[in-house]
Amino acid sequence: MRGKRENAAQIWSGKVLLTGVSLVILSFLLPLFLAERFAPAPAVPLPVSPISGADPFSPSAPCPTPRAGWDEQESLLLLQPDGSVTRLTMAEYLQGVVRAEMPVSFLPEALKAQAVAARTYCLYQRAQNADKHLQADVCTDSTCCQAWLDSASAAEKWGEEADRYADKIAQAVSDTDGLVCLYQGELIDAVFFSSALGKTSSAGVVWGKDVPYLASVNSPEGEEVPELRTVVTFPKDEFIGRFLTAHPEASFSDTPEHWIGVPETDDAGAVLAISIGGVTVTGGEVRSLYGLRSTRFQVETGENIIFSVSGYGHGVGMSQYGANALARQGKTFAEILQWYYTGVTVAGAP
Ligand SMILES: [Zn+2]
Repeated sequence: MRGKRENAAQIWSGKVLLTGVSLVILSFLLPLFLAERFAPAPAVPLPVSPISGADPFSPSAPCPTPRAGWDEQESLLLLQPDGSVTRLTMAEYLQGVVRAEMPVSFLPEALKAQAVAARTYCLYQRAQNADKHLQADVCTDSTCCQAWLDSASAAEKWGEEADRYADKIAQAVSDTDGLVCLYQGELIDAVFFSSALGKTSSAGVVWGKDVPYLASVNSPEGEEVPELRTVVTFPKDEFIGRFLTAHPEASFSDTPEHWIGVPETDDAGAVLAISIGGVTVTGGEVRSLYGLRSTRFQVETGENIIFSVSGYGHGVGMSQYGANALARQGKTFAEILQWYYTGVTVAGAP
């Protein structure tokens, strides 16, 4: 029995070998034959398919062309901290935003990405939130619109490097003159923040409203970010006091290890909801009550209440430190923007 089976197996494998050899011969000959017949004439260039914007990392993706003079012709009304309103050209406004919002030491492509995001954000605000400020288009408050720093204050801050830094920022703005981020032809809400650890968060989970281009994406910044991780400690009394001012119904009569529940987080580690003293609050509320740098925190109860926080900012849209990390990898400003704002194109303002 054993020998027969072995025999049968040998015959079978012999057939397989023969078929295999024939197939190999065929597979070598057929392409040669076809290549002879259908090889394109070498002198004729292949047609280039149009770039859809869906493949931001294609090495052949053209860099969008700036619209020379657009930022100088466009003007807007800026509400200053003292309540006065100033008319500025878009170029003047954007230079002030980049001065205030991004470290000037960042690479040029990151500064350009910031300039485009700031231009887009401002135009979107003017179109969508015109009633936010009665006599102005935007203000200088980073928690309301975008931070803005005048050139004299920036020069004072930069000291000897003032001229070089001012030129670097002016260049980032003019190199992206008139360019914005569009999603399906419309201006986007180009929100940005300082840093995240690993991933951004989606608008849907953080703000409760899905926005297709504000999805969660990987963010490559790391230990180069100053204060990437921070620890904030509160004595129990102060921790309770702050919470009770917002939620007098909370109860802290139980032992401290029962005060704080297991938080609900997103994939990026941002706290969406957490129970404190029997009251469920959002991560955003905890962030503002305790002055945390982000909603990406863990909390321990012991002698004190200790928050361990990572990153800085709301975590939605473009990470500024991530933009600089991508620039260091050789990405262009358009690639950086398309990395953080899913499915957008970078083009002239509509
Ligand atoms: Zn504002």
